[in-house]
Amino acid sequence: MPNGHVIRGARVGSAPPRLPERHQPVPCRSVSYWCRNGHRTDIRIVADVTAPTVWDCPRCGLPAGPDAQDPPGRTRAEPYKTHLAYVKERRTDAEGEAILAEALAALRNRRGGG
Ligand SMILES: [Zn+2]
Repeated sequence: MPNGHVIRGARVGSAPPRLPERHQPVPCRSVSYWCRNGHRTDIRIVADVTAPTVWDCPRCGLPAGPDAQDPPGRTRAEPYKTHLAYVKERRTDAEGEAILAEALAALRNRRGGG
Protein backbone atom coordinates (compact mmCIF):
# COMPACT_ATOMS: atom_id res chain seq x y z
CA MET A 1 0.00 0.00 0.00
CA PRO A 2 1.59 3.29 -1.08
CA ASN A 3 1.82 5.78 1.72
CA GLY A 4 1.77 8.79 -0.54
CA HIS A 5 4.63 10.55 1.17
CA VAL A 6 6.77 12.11 -1.48
CA ILE A 7 9.61 14.35 -0.49
CA ARG A 8 10.73 16.65 -3.21
CA GLY A 9 13.42 19.24 -3.43
CA ALA A 10 15.17 18.49 -0.16
CA ARG A 11 18.42 16.67 -0.54
CA VAL A 12 20.44 15.44 2.31
CA GLY A 13 23.44 17.67 2.59
CA SER A 14 21.93 20.64 0.77
CA ALA A 15 23.10 23.96 2.11
CA PRO A 16 20.80 25.73 4.57
CA PRO A 17 19.59 29.12 3.41
CA ARG A 18 22.01 31.80 4.47
CA LEU A 19 21.43 35.50 4.87
CA PRO A 20 23.95 37.76 3.24
CA GLU A 21 26.56 38.39 5.89
CA ARG A 22 26.82 42.09 5.32
CA HIS A 23 23.11 42.56 5.99
CA GLN A 24 22.56 44.28 9.31
CA PRO A 25 19.08 44.43 10.78
CA VAL A 26 17.87 48.03 10.92
CA PRO A 27 17.36 49.08 14.54
CA CYS A 28 13.70 49.73 15.16
CA ARG A 29 11.63 51.04 17.98
CA SER A 30 7.96 50.70 18.55
CA VAL A 31 5.66 53.64 19.10
CA SER A 32 2.15 53.45 20.49
CA TYR A 33 -0.69 55.67 19.45
CA TRP A 34 -4.10 56.11 20.97
CA CYS A 35 -7.19 57.48 19.29
CA ARG A 36 -10.19 59.10 20.93
CA ASN A 37 -11.98 55.76 20.99
CA GLY A 38 -9.23 54.22 23.09
CA HIS A 39 -7.83 52.05 20.32
CA ARG A 40 -4.13 51.42 20.75
CA THR A 41 -1.96 51.08 17.70
CA ASP A 42 1.64 49.94 17.88
CA ILE A 43 3.83 50.74 14.96
CA ARG A 44 7.47 50.01 14.41
CA ILE A 45 9.65 52.67 12.89
CA VAL A 46 13.33 52.93 12.18
CA ALA A 47 15.09 54.09 15.33
CA ASP A 48 16.64 57.24 13.94
CA VAL A 49 13.46 58.46 12.28
CA THR A 50 11.26 60.89 14.14
CA ALA A 51 7.90 59.37 14.94
CA PRO A 52 4.96 61.08 13.31
CA THR A 53 2.88 63.11 15.73
CA VAL A 54 -0.36 61.70 14.39
CA TRP A 55 -1.19 58.25 13.13
CA ASP A 56 -4.51 57.25 11.64
CA CYS A 57 -6.23 54.65 13.75
CA PRO A 58 -6.59 51.55 11.56
CA ARG A 59 -9.73 50.53 13.42
CA CYS A 60 -11.86 53.66 13.29
CA GLY A 61 -9.90 56.07 11.10
CA LEU A 62 -9.65 58.81 13.70
CA PRO A 63 -6.30 60.49 14.22
CA ALA A 64 -4.30 58.86 17.00
CA GLY A 65 -1.50 60.41 19.03
CA PRO A 66 1.32 59.15 21.23
CA ASP A 67 -0.30 60.50 24.42
CA ALA A 68 -2.93 58.12 25.73
CA GLN A 69 -4.37 60.78 28.04
CA ASP A 70 -4.67 63.39 25.32
CA PRO A 71 -5.48 61.84 21.96
CA PRO A 72 -5.71 64.27 19.07
CA GLY A 73 -9.00 65.47 17.70
CA ARG A 74 -10.68 66.19 21.01
CA THR A 75 -9.71 69.84 21.13
CA ARG A 76 -10.44 70.34 17.47
CA ALA A 77 -13.91 68.91 17.71
CA GLU A 78 -16.40 71.70 17.14
CA PRO A 79 -19.26 71.91 19.59
CA TYR A 80 -22.59 71.13 18.08
CA LYS A 81 -24.26 74.21 16.67
CA THR A 82 -27.90 74.58 15.91
CA HIS A 83 -29.07 75.89 12.58
CA LEU A 84 -30.12 79.08 14.35
CA ALA A 85 -26.58 79.55 15.68
CA TYR A 86 -25.19 79.38 12.17
CA VAL A 87 -27.83 81.84 10.94
CA LYS A 88 -26.98 84.24 13.76
CA GLU A 89 -23.32 84.13 12.71
CA ARG A 90 -24.28 85.32 9.27
CA ARG A 91 -26.96 87.87 10.15
CA THR A 92 -27.38 90.55 12.76
CA ASP A 93 -30.45 90.68 14.95
CA ALA A 94 -31.74 93.72 13.03
CA GLU A 95 -31.45 91.87 9.75
CA GLY A 96 -33.22 88.95 11.33
CA GLU A 97 -36.09 91.18 12.46
CA ALA A 98 -36.41 92.67 8.98
CA ILE A 99 -36.42 89.25 7.35
CA LEU A 100 -38.98 88.01 9.85
CA ALA A 101 -41.25 91.03 9.28
CA GLU A 102 -40.96 90.60 5.55
CA ALA A 103 -41.82 86.93 5.77
CA LEU A 104 -44.84 87.62 8.00
CA ALA A 105 -46.09 90.32 5.63
CA ALA A 106 -45.80 87.97 2.68
CA LEU A 107 -47.61 85.29 4.63
CA ARG A 108 -50.46 87.62 5.47
CA ASN A 109 -50.73 88.74 1.84
CA ARG A 110 -50.95 85.11 0.70
CA ARG A 111 -53.74 84.48 3.15
CA GLY A 112 -55.66 87.34 1.65
CA GLY A 113 -55.85 89.27 4.90
CA GLY A 114 -55.62 93.05 5.25
ZN1 LIG B 1 -9.68 54.11 16.84
